[in-house]
Amino acid sequence: MPLRLYAATTNTGKLRDFRTAAQAYSIVIKPLPGLKTIPAPNEDGDSFAANAALKAIYYSRFAPGTLVLADDSGLEVDALNGAPGVHSARFAIDEGLVASSASSHEIDLVNNELLLKRMAGIASTRRTARYRCVLVAVRDGVVCHQAEGAVEGLILEAARGTGGFGYDPLFYLPKLKKTMAEINLETKLTLSHRGRAFAALLPLLAA
Ligand code: IMP
Repeated sequence: MPLRLYAATTNTGKLRDFRTAAQAYSIVIKPLPGLKTIPAPNEDGDSFAANAALKAIYYSRFAPGTLVLADDSGLEVDALNGAPGVHSARFAIDEGLVASSASSHEIDLVNNELLLKRMAGIASTRRTARYRCVLVAVRDGVVCHQAEGAVEGLILEAARGTGGFGYDPLFYLPKLKKTMAEINLETKLTLSHRGRAFAALLPLLAA
């Protein structure tokens, strides 16, 4: 019988990526039933791993006996001592530059503007950064598996491309000579932090 897993995400893009990659392992991934009606936990951990674990542990209470998967991810910029890190989604919100009720598109734009402002005057050789993702699978409140993935890049001085989301238009992949917003979804899945974390998790789940 195929292993069944619930993903604690309402992000349809993430869900599609997870499902596509899991097919090769005969693992069936479904959205956690009723997720939209469950109040979200406070993501107050100080690392991606802590936030992914607290989410997975919290949501596993709503699916007794089944593995529940949660992820946390974000951007770490070396010249900013790892910021925005776990605050990636709320970077500009926490500075009072945009309301948390604004559309995700608007929040992304203001986050990117703030990132460019913080990086002003930093030489191209010092603009190194990475996306990181941690995935945690929990059953009945107990962590069963954890995996992580990262992708290295550079922060450009101006946005390029219209695909992706978040910081993708500023995140440049030197090997491809493109930003994350200039590559197609299939390519992004194979090389992204989330794709790599999931590829590392799948054999653990299947074992
Ligand atoms: P979450 O783990 O989906 O909550 O991501 C937190 C934040 O990190 C997002 O709101 C984005 O700002 C940033 N982020 C995470 N993954 C990506 C990505 O693949 N592209 C662009 N931004 C990302």
